Amino acid sequence: MTEVLGHDEAKALLARARPQSVLITGPEGVGRRTLARWYAYGLNCAQGFPPCGGCKSCRLDPHPDLLEIRPEPGRRPVIPVERIVPREGGGENLLEWLEAAPRFRAKVAIIDGAEHLSEAAANAMLKLLEEPPPHAYLALVAPSREAILPTLASRTFWIRLAPLPEETLKTLAADPDLLAFAEGAPGRLFWAREHPAEVRDLKALVEGLLEGLADGRAALENARELLRRAEEGLSPWPFFQRAFAELPPEERERALSALGKLKEAHRAFAHRELLAAWWVHTLRSLYGDRRPDSL
Ligand SMILES: [Zn+2]
Repeated sequence: MTEVLGHDEAKALLARARPQSVLITGPEGVGRRTLARWYAYGLNCAQGFPPCGGCKSCRLDPHPDLLEIRPEPGRRPVIPVERIVPREGGGENLLEWLEAAPRFRAKVAIIDGAEHLSEAAANAMLKLLEEPPPHAYLALVAPSREAILPTLASRTFWIRLAPLPEETLKTLAADPDLLAFAEGAPGRLFWAREHPAEVRDLKALVEGLLEGLADGRAALENARELLRRAEEGLSPWPFFQRAFAELPPEERERALSALGKLKEAHRAFAHRELLAAWWVHTLRSLYGDRRPDSL
């Protein structure tokens, strides 16, 4: 049984519409998987929505009618076709799992990282979405609607999760550094609460970079290190954003637009060395002789 922080509209919508196939999009950690699980428990709860937490079904975790499919890890994660439909030597797959009768009411499969479905897997999913077995529900989780095949997206009920307001997250932690790091994503805040030293270290690196722009070599080294951490999922962007808030409006706008470009290039796996050099150059042109007072 799962609690979902915030996202009340999305919950109400799911409970009312009960779509057989849903696409849940939003930033990592915002609660996409948690909402998909909540939906699965609601569909199977003896009391209906919201899931009661006390019935026979709600008390089960793992739940026999809930299957979660994730990409196989790697630099290019992928969900291969044999996870979706039977293939020789392929093992457990979605289609066969869905065809068996549910123990309670609904069999729910969460495809976590639907943007990583291989082409063959996506086509197999498409067939499933066209004619799902009557008791079958599919929840696709992806960063955005654009990240998956348009033909897949058009066959799903779309739920878009936005970052939660800081007011909501403050119920989980009061530390402004941790809240800044979370960027409205409870999953990131949970992580930050467990690793406060790493978050503060990240912030110190950003401060060090901005204060040490005069020393080109050290700045480059810092920028490289920050990008390396971003690759590991420790994104320093919110701390830059906070520092830029101190700039005069015109420069702030330039800084934020440059930060947007950096994030985009980083997502597209642009070369770290090139990005670091470009970022230091950009920051120097923005700050000139000015030293940021504080973060
Ligand atoms: Zn229940």
